[in-house]
Amino acid sequence: MKTNRTREAIVNVTPSGRRSHRRGDRPRAATARTLPSVGEGGRDSAARVFLRQGRSRPLWFGHPWVYENAIDRVEGEAGPGDVVSLTDHDGRLIGRGFYNPRSQIPVRLCTRGDAPVDAAFFRARIAAARALRVRLGLPSAATTIYRLINSEGDDLPGLIVDVFGDAAVAQITTLGIAQRKAEIYDALEAELGVRAIFESSPAGYAELEGFVAASRVARGESRPTVGGVEDGIRLEVEPLSGQKTGMFIDQRETRVRVGQLARGARVLDCYAYAGGFGLQAARGGAASVVAVDSSARAIARIESHATANGVTIEAVEADAFRFLETTTPRSFDLLVIDPPKFARAMKDLEAARKGYERLNALALGAAAPGAVLVTCSCSQNVDAESFERIVAAAAKQAGRRVRVFERRGPAVDHPLPPGFTEGQYLKVLLLYVD
Ligand code: SAH
Repeated sequence: MKTNRTREAIVNVTPSGRRSHRRGDRPRAATARTLPSVGEGGRDSAARVFLRQGRSRPLWFGHPWVYENAIDRVEGEAGPGDVVSLTDHDGRLIGRGFYNPRSQIPVRLCTRGDAPVDAAFFRARIAAARALRVRLGLPSAATTIYRLINSEGDDLPGLIVDVFGDAAVAQITTLGIAQRKAEIYDALEAELGVRAIFESSPAGYAELEGFVAASRVARGESRPTVGGVEDGIRLEVEPLSGQKTGMFIDQRETRVRVGQLARGARVLDCYAYAGGFGLQAARGGAASVVAVDSSARAIARIESHATANGVTIEAVEADAFRFLETTTPRSFDLLVIDPPKFARAMKDLEAARKGYERLNALALGAAAPGAVLVTCSCSQNVDAESFERIVAAAAKQAGRRVRVFERRGPAVDHPLPPGFTEGQYLKVLLLYVD
């Protein structure tokens, strides 16, 4: 099946920054008008958005999104990107959020209070996000690469900020955030003391939301790469390479887990990107590590990471399906399969299901008896239960018995409001293969 080279999103942003596509949540064609340039506009308006009768419950319970069909009316003047107040049908204030009538999600809440959304607000949000990470032990001497802002999970819908040592990489996916980025960067500099801020706003989101996409150094010194350590592994990535913020930080803890399971194993890291899984496995005492990625740039990065960390990895530039089809059967003891999103939209679901099933069946064919398979899906449209059923079907196809011994998700620096299923995308199953 055809896979996407990146995990980037086109439709409505999830906290992961990966593609998400809900029922009734289709992108609209861009209208032929001049888009506001990033940083322009964005008033803190007095407008009030009233929900329809019976539609406020999830919002009272912490869900941050208001779908178009839940809105009864807007009272007052509200322009794209303005902050508006959200009320239930009876006019009780639920919170305030960014308004964008162009989106299928016209309101995204950023506060449950009635305060202005200004420079002080952003400073407080970023300080709170930082306090949460500190509570969870991030950053530390061993880990200086972490996610500081996880969009809805940190009450800043449309903003992801990943920190790499003394640099920050911001990914902007909503108009409301795009219009207020100067205040946000000021707050990041003040709270974190970062020396460089990189900015990326993927074209797909920018077009959907109606702002000008950018990929640039927003503050401080320009540098080709940003780096740091992840559980003691030295990593250096290009922040503006087109692959999200440059690093898939969500898998950090699972990479560490793979390191713990690697002793003496012949390891295969498929869809390796920067080689994070393979590097942890090599350090964890693997007998050998093969890392496969279809991108030449990824292969070069994996090789330089292996050198920088004093380990040996055989990096192979290949399509993962082709590699698995032609590799020696039953020759690996620990396999990681971490593909890009297969299901970008609901209509892709059946093809995605088939793709995951075939991929996992091929991986199981390459697994030696007694192997561990770490299999991942970052398709928000494939929920945890469906993914597990797909893996069961793959085992049947491969004629192997498997048992799940661990179920994992994104690392701790990716918090989300409970019940916000739109933000849940990453599923990881650890399987014992007989
Ligand atoms: N496991 C990585 C993240 C993977 S991101 C980590 O821990 O950081 C997905 C990767 O899959 C990208 O590097 C992309 O280049 C690669 N990729 C996409 N399609 C592929 C294919 N058909 N075969 C092999 N690699 C592919």
